[in-house]
Amino acid sequence: MAHSKALLELENFIGGRFVPCSSYIDSYNPSTGDVYCRVPDSGKDEVEAAVKAAKDAFPVWSSKSPLERSQILNKLADLIEHDLEAFAQAESKDQGKTITFARTVDIPRAVHNFRFFASSILHHVTECTEMPTMGCMHYTSRAPVGVAGLISPWNLPLYLLTWKIAPAIACGNTVVAKPSEMTSVTAWMMCKLLEKAGVPPGVVNVVFGTGAKAGEALVCHPDVPLISFTGSTLTAQRITEKSAPHCKRLSLELGGKNPAIVFNDADLSQCIPTTVRSSFANQGEICLCTSRIFVQRGIYNEFLKRFVAEAKKWKTGNPSDPTVNVGALISKEHLEKVRNYVKKAQAEGARVLCGEGVDPLALPPGNQKGYFMLPTVITEVKDESCCMQEEIFGPVTCVVAFDTEEEVIKRANGVKYGLAATVWSGNVGRVHRVAHRLQSGLVWTNCWLVRDLNLPFGGMKASGIGREGARDSYEFFTEVKTITIKH
Ligand code: NAD
Repeated sequence: MAHSKALLELENFIGGRFVPCSSYIDSYNPSTGDVYCRVPDSGKDEVEAAVKAAKDAFPVWSSKSPLERSQILNKLADLIEHDLEAFAQAESKDQGKTITFARTVDIPRAVHNFRFFASSILHHVTECTEMPTMGCMHYTSRAPVGVAGLISPWNLPLYLLTWKIAPAIACGNTVVAKPSEMTSVTAWMMCKLLEKAGVPPGVVNVVFGTGAKAGEALVCHPDVPLISFTGSTLTAQRITEKSAPHCKRLSLELGGKNPAIVFNDADLSQCIPTTVRSSFANQGEICLCTSRIFVQRGIYNEFLKRFVAEAKKWKTGNPSDPTVNVGALISKEHLEKVRNYVKKAQAEGARVLCGEGVDPLALPPGNQKGYFMLPTVITEVKDESCCMQEEIFGPVTCVVAFDTEEEVIKRANGVKYGLAATVWSGNVGRVHRVAHRLQSGLVWTNCWLVRDLNLPFGGMKASGIGREGARDSYEFFTEVKTITIKH
């Protein structure tokens, strides 16, 4: 397709240099529907070059002290923070998310990811045990593994990519990263800062392109012993299959179908605004978003009324307007998919209380072709419905009633996923009891998305394998050895 010169054109970053690619993919601005960027359509050759550069850089980088690496990570954090506004603007344009979300969540968290792992890498200790009767002591040592393959999705582009790059390089690995082909711009911008931060050439390589070509070439490369992947469960199955012949180490952070459970004694003044946020933040395109809300019968009607009123206050429109709460969805295809879920629910007899197909969507003239959708609340929907079973990953949430604690635990656990759950109750015994029985890697009670990065993050069941966090990422990105000394 012929393009005007005004299009932004990205290049791969390999061995410390920007390298053009022989073919490119169009990337859209989701809020206008226009192509505005060309992303390298990399394949085996580009991945091969990037893995070679990463292998060459490994001996020197892995032998640096944690303190030296920490200082470089901190410098990189400072440089991204210095350009925070430019990064936020780019993320919003590329992904469709609101400028406010990009400014307050995505980019600050990307900065924090580097600072966090720059600090945590200095504080790990290994284990030591003694066996006096044998005259022996044992200790463990940890070493970086080699070239790490990092594959990230489009919903929180720089946030999730740096959540992988930071621990991988802090531990002394070198990396080949592949961001989502739909949101590659901020990763490319970060590459421009690496040299200034002191990251040696080859330590961080970024290869842009599709999952089928670039992603799979990385997964199948024999010199990449570990893959950290965040994305859909379907892709994770494919990655598991493709990497099996090489027995690769995998970390898989996948989808969710996250319940919120609201008991009669919940503080609704806190619960309602938080649950609206947990349902619709970032257009519902966060793996941790709530999409099934179980409300105890005694407060069901009141909850529904107040929840819908609050959801209707969320303004949908131009993402660069700082008063807007809901931006554009990632793509035309994804918007269609999300809309279809609402249609299917209606066809099954569910009721749509606000949003899609019910309320008018008024968009500014420049955004008429963007991929927008209003926050949508569905009720009278059965637990077996696809809207209650499948990950929708858009601004759609279902509200249903329940009677007893026993019943709601069973229903909340009745999906294939197990990523995050939220429990609302003033009864401390109940929140502990319910939290323990939920099949979910994360349980928030009376709050949502409050994270301590030190602690494990990840899902059960089809939501993933492995955990990320200070200690978990350290363990994933290092190889442990037990050494026995006889004295
Ligand atoms: P996706 O699985 O389609 O793509 C994710 C990444 O994998 C992209 O970079 C893509 O190009 C690549 N990819 C696709 N096919 C591949 C293949 N065969 N081999 C190697 N790489 C391949 O996911 P998405 O649509 O970009 O992201 C949305 C999904 O991510 C949702 O399911 C969401 O829940 C999940 N997610 C999970 C978390 C978490 O931490 N658990 C966080 C954010 C998003």
